[in-house]
Amino acid sequence: MIIDENDSARPFIGACAFCGQGLLRFWLINEQLAALCDECELYWTDIAAVADDPNAPATGTLDTSPLAEPHRAATVEEIADADFADFISGYSV
Ligand SMILES: [Zn+2]
Repeated sequence: MIIDENDSARPFIGACAFCGQGLLRFWLINEQLAALCDECELYWTDIAAVADDPNAPATGTLDTSPLAEPHRAATVEEIADADFADFISGYSV
């Protein structure tokens, strides 16, 4: 299958084993690359661990309040620069 990467498709690592609804995506939380579920907002700073075992214990739940730690979606370039491109299993909107 050819993956057509474009602005509306973002990489994901895999499905979230905890909520069963979301996808784990690459985010920068406090400038550290982490895997974040786009549904339940659990995150893992050990991306390799959760990519290997979806049931790996989460680091915590992202605080999305205005006073929370800075966080934003990582770019494809940032993912590649961190050598995490191998953990991308697909792209979706
Ligand atoms: Zn989840």
